[in-house]
Amino acid sequence: MESIKRTKVKDLLQSTAYGTEVTVKGWVRTFRNNQFIAINDGSTINNIQAVVDFNVADETLLKRLTTGAAVSVTGELIESLGKGQKVEVKVKHLEILGDSDETFPMQPKKHSLEFLREKAHLRFRTNTFNAVFKVRHALAYAIHKFFNDKGFVYLHTPIITASDAEGAGEMFRVTALDFNNPPRTETGEVDFKQDFFGKTTNLTVSGQLEAELAAMAFGEVYTFGPTFRAENSNTTRHLAEFWMIEPEVAFNDLTDNMNLAEELLKYVIKHAMDNCADEIEFLKNRLLEEEKTKPMDERSELDLTAKLNFCLENNFERLTYTEAIEILKNSNPNKKKKFKYIINEWGADLQSEHERYLVEKHFKKPVILTDYPKEIKAFYMRQNDDGKTVRAIDILFPGIGEIIGGSQREERLEYLEKRMAEMHIPADELYWYLDTRRFGTAPHAGFGLGFERLVLFVTGMTNIRDVIPFPRAPKTAEF
Ligand code: ATP
Ligand code: MN
Repeated sequence: MESIKRTKVKDLLQSTAYGTEVTVKGWVRTFRNNQFIAINDGSTINNIQAVVDFNVADETLLKRLTTGAAVSVTGELIESLGKGQKVEVKVKHLEILGDSDETFPMQPKKHSLEFLREKAHLRFRTNTFNAVFKVRHALAYAIHKFFNDKGFVYLHTPIITASDAEGAGEMFRVTALDFNNPPRTETGEVDFKQDFFGKTTNLTVSGQLEAELAAMAFGEVYTFGPTFRAENSNTTRHLAEFWMIEPEVAFNDLTDNMNLAEELLKYVIKHAMDNCADEIEFLKNRLLEEEKTKPMDERSELDLTAKLNFCLENNFERLTYTEAIEILKNSNPNKKKKFKYIINEWGADLQSEHERYLVEKHFKKPVILTDYPKEIKAFYMRQNDDGKTVRAIDILFPGIGEIIGGSQREERLEYLEKRMAEMHIPADELYWYLDTRRFGTAPHAGFGLGFERLVLFVTGMTNIRDVIPFPRAPKTAEF
């Protein structure tokens, strides 16, 4: 059988080459009136209509035109008389490439996102997930383009790591030992010296420490890879496996860091809006439908496109943690004890409800909080002269909460060593990290952007499990 060159549906829908013969290959979405096949090939969320004439197809063939079947149709491209489409294909030749039957779960009716999550291996074939993963792709591309155009080096940091400095207790152990019969030390503990790497190893929670090493040579680097957290948080914002973007820049201070983060977010959101207009329009309408099921006061004031534009057009609000605490202390939900965690004093860790109050109710725009108490932040953040706070930044987004966490790093060896000792972080194991401070240390800064939280924001989806193809979460590792 000779393979005919196909034209993608996306191109056909924009074509006006009426009268030419074309071939479309794709999957049947619907087949109506024994005549109209809606075919989708994934190149766009829109379908092309193919019209079959009884003369060219016998009845047994037509019976096989069920939702989900893979088909190849060849015929003339003609102007469409139907509403909502400019062109259609008048079928001359029809071939079923792969049958599907009524047990195919993606039948043309409304499915709940929960149902689709259980069928994640087939949900790509719905409009919603076509749109979500197109946007995800566009965002990934834009991130690489943004950094590439600025001269950053894309650094691949390890997935298996021996350092557990950052994620004590939240890491997945990587081992090749026999669980039923592990080697033991004289004192009875599992002897990881005999394990594959000769020491305990875990899946990484962040590529930052390694990125810092490279930033001290290339000046500007970024990572973009999977990270893993064994935290048992069954929320709509957390995954056990998620992708993170971590730029690290030599000679940047806290303000440079905030500027870079804000520029990156605006750039990639704009790229998605420019390149995924159909998808975002579709997702906007999907969200409007979803919002209709919510009580009035929980619906957002802006639709998806308005929300994205709003984010592009406004400067993010920048304030210190200390200023934010004052706002929260005096806020209505705090005084009326509506918050689950009441803010009583300086030093409290901010919960998602507080972050969202600041963004959605108080400022009504993205917020960058800086200079957090050192007790609630990581050891590597640069200490301020007040002895109480560190040069941290968190960027908070509407509907999401924290989307970015970062800091100017502590580049002074003696401060870093002292802080590590206070926090019981073994300096000897991190000798390689401290070497950057021993040999030509320099001010530098960076941050981590959670990729799925960004995709959540741009797609207007509400559960993080719906923006990664195969979600990994507590008790969830199907497919
Ligand atoms: P949170 O307080 O929301 O749990 P975090 O403070 O633990 O986040 P960081 O360690 O600062 O997060 O990680 C940097 C970024 O990675 C976060 O700003 C967020 O966008 C993303 N992120 C963190 N944990 C997760 C997770 N479990 N699933 C998806 N994204 C995450
Ligand atoms: Mn954080």
